[in-house]
Amino acid sequence: MTSYDVDLFVIGAGSGGTRAARIAAGYGARVQVAEEYRVGGTCVIRGCVPKKLFVYAARFAHEFEDSAGFGWSLQGASFDWPTLVANKDKEIARLEGAYRANLGRAGVEILPQRATVEGPNAVRLADGTRVRAKYILIATGGHPNLGLAIPGRELAITSNEAFHLPRLPRSIVIQGAGYIALEFACLFAGLGAKVTVVHRGSRLLREFDDEICEHVAAEMRASGIAIELDVTIAAIAPDAEGRRVRLSDGREILAEEVMLAIGRQPNTVGLGLETAGVALAANGAIKVDAGSRTNVPSIYAVGDVTDRLQLTPIAIREGHAFADTVFGAKPWTVDHSLVATAVFTEPEIGTVGLTEAQARAQGYRLDIYKTDFRPMKATLSGRATRTFMKLVVDQRTDRVLGVHLIGEASAEMIQIVGIVLAMGGTKADFDRTIALHPSAAEELVTMRSKHASSDLPEQSAESTPAI
Ligand code: FAD
Ligand code: NDP
Repeated sequence: MTSYDVDLFVIGAGSGGTRAARIAAGYGARVQVAEEYRVGGTCVIRGCVPKKLFVYAARFAHEFEDSAGFGWSLQGASFDWPTLVANKDKEIARLEGAYRANLGRAGVEILPQRATVEGPNAVRLADGTRVRAKYILIATGGHPNLGLAIPGRELAITSNEAFHLPRLPRSIVIQGAGYIALEFACLFAGLGAKVTVVHRGSRLLREFDDEICEHVAAEMRASGIAIELDVTIAAIAPDAEGRRVRLSDGREILAEEVMLAIGRQPNTVGLGLETAGVALAANGAIKVDAGSRTNVPSIYAVGDVTDRLQLTPIAIREGHAFADTVFGAKPWTVDHSLVATAVFTEPEIGTVGLTEAQARAQGYRLDIYKTDFRPMKATLSGRATRTFMKLVVDQRTDRVLGVHLIGEASAEMIQIVGIVLAMGGTKADFDRTIALHPSAAEELVTMRSKHASSDLPEQSAESTPAI
């Protein structure tokens, strides 16, 4: 009989790895987790959490401006970047401690070093120790794509460095039009930087509903962000200003910083996966089945390293399902459909389910309901912003297939709407729900005309009960 040092060896103490380790240990498994950087992983250390703290910081700028219309006068408001960074770092350190404590309480041993795979049941630590494990879970996450072969690429930062800049850049060029590019564009702009977004395509957020993409571009432009479409960065050179950025159409932009936000790649290089025969996809992601098992029966993988949906709650779910299935005799798999997601732009986006284009491509005949209105707060603040909402409904069954929102509190709203869609909610369910007034959310249950804009487009939805 083979004897193992541990029942489970987890490589990577991020969102997926820590959840899997903790749950497996709770079932009595002997668990070790190796972490080469900081416990908590991308989300806690240099992703969702510090990003959202920066988003909050940036939003005060609009709040201060908007307050004038409500009678406030705020002279001398100023922003101090080092204070924000220091306070953020303190909070991240607290969270990292909480993650460590949770793992410790569950009986998981944390090994603060890099680990690589040496075979179907063997792991090698950076200090040379070899560990025999009944199961190995790879939860190594991903890293920013630096694949641009352009002169001066090394002068650009990624989201990793953006969290630790010694000072707030007065100007920044950001390449990409996905979650990270747009969130950082809005937060840097909110904090006072002059921002230019450079994107190779003709629309932002390619996977999102067309009208959301148009709306977010209009809002960003209205708040002073320059958006350059159908171009790329061709070269970056040092300059007295900071950086001289040459675009593919020959134009030049001067900026203090350049940031690349062009996707993230799975952390599989140098991980020894070939020694165990673990199969990879073309982009380097680990191939897994619905239960997160690789082609090697003793090796599983969860989270960004598998490139299914690069979201924290997905990595956590996958880790949890793995531990329940393998160590708790409670098998289940994660449903990757109908995942609510938000982009923390200004204003923010919330989306769940199929876009109109996806639904049409799948052959659905659709009823589209949408509303585009001026939020109540903007009536006194004078801010030129609008809220947009769209329901994509299957004409045959009346089932709501997708909901797409942009406007204040869209992230909070879409989480709840996600429950309705998961339950198979129909448009009739939305219709028989009584509105909560005054709120933006009431528009979700008062949209009546198909393919039409709001009945009261120039009025505040929150101030005018639907009659
Ligand atoms: P990770 O959390 O990346 O953890 C992997 C861990 O493995 C890391 O700690 C790494 O150091 C460690 N590691 C790697 N290789 C080794 C090795 N060989 N040995 C030992 N340790 C190793 N998602 C959301 O849902 N909402 C958001 O708002 C959001 N915002 C984001 C903002 C940014 C800027 C970024 C970059 C990402 C954001 N994400 C967000 C995505 C989210 O962070 C990831 O989907 C999530 O962290 C993935 O979890 P994971 O467990 O797969 O990997
Ligand atoms: P995304 O995949 O969201 O966007 C990548 C962007 O870069 C796209 O606009 C893409 O263009 C462009 N791009 C890709 N490759 C190149 C290239 N070679 N040259 C030029 N442009 C390129 O990646 P992000 O880096 O923004 O974020 C990674 C993931 O992290 C997200 O997909 C998301 O899952 C997660 N995340 C989630 C957040 C949240 O939940 N709020 C926040 C931040 C990150 P094109 O459209 O043409 O492909």
